[in-house]
Amino acid sequence: MRVANLAGRLVIVTGAPGAEVAHDVEKNSGGRFAAAPQAVYDDWDAFTAWAAGAALTDPVPLDPADLGAPSPEPRQVLAVGLNYRDHAAESGFAAPAGDPPVFTKFPSCLTGPRGDVVLPSGGRTDWEVELVAVIGRRAHRVSAAEAPAYVAGYTVGQDLSERVLQMAAQPPQFSLGKSLPGFGPTGPWLVTPDELDDAADLELSCAVNGERVQHGRTSRLIHSVPDLVARLSATLPLLPGDLLFTGTPGGVGFGMNPPRYLAPGDVLTSRIEGIGELRHRFVAAPA
Ligand code: ZN
Repeated sequence: MRVANLAGRLVIVTGAPGAEVAHDVEKNSGGRFAAAPQAVYDDWDAFTAWAAGAALTDPVPLDPADLGAPSPEPRQVLAVGLNYRDHAAESGFAAPAGDPPVFTKFPSCLTGPRGDVVLPSGGRTDWEVELVAVIGRRAHRVSAAEAPAYVAGYTVGQDLSERVLQMAAQPPQFSLGKSLPGFGPTGPWLVTPDELDDAADLELSCAVNGERVQHGRTSRLIHSVPDLVARLSATLPLLPGDLLFTGTPGGVGFGMNPPRYLAPGDVLTSRIEGIGELRHRFVAAPA
């Protein structure tokens, strides 16, 4: 099942790629489930049970430009650094031996799968395509074996990063540099795990103006999603709708020689096999 936020309303998406249609959940369920996309995660088990047997009607056209973030107002956004060896190496670090570094993207940075992102003046804005897990059930002290039952599904994320601000303090302040307005695109929809061949082995990539800069597979994650859920939930409860950015493969701009950053007019596309694509254009900050 694919679940999306269409102009602020919760929808189920059906149809072939490029010919998707949307079914409004509030209308199809006779009001059993609210229109607000965020509310569904607190009622995820009941929602998936209903959706499995629902005869969906009233399809409406789905314009990708009208899609918002699948989980637009999560209570927590957890993000993991250095979770692919090639990215750790290009960052000048050994891959972490134990727990990975964790930071947050403050939820005000979250946006949907299309649109413009304003480049901060004087900044160096970089790309990081990531698999994002969305939590579907309160997870506190769950084991890696139990963890899959706590994941509602997966979406594509961009952990956009302003490297000047990120590196301005010692130690680096990841959370601020990665939380400027528009720096947390997600989408185009949430895909439930049963719809994916294997969430643990998906191709992910991103391209600047059509030139591929990042390419990897989620099978190369140092810490898998179940491992991350177990490690993080040992410290704090993960809440329904929370986002978990799982880290980026190699190929980010600051690892290039010479480094390369996003410029006004650049178009960034971020793709994960079996989920879909984000597309964002970067624009200069108003003078
Ligand atoms: Zn990242």
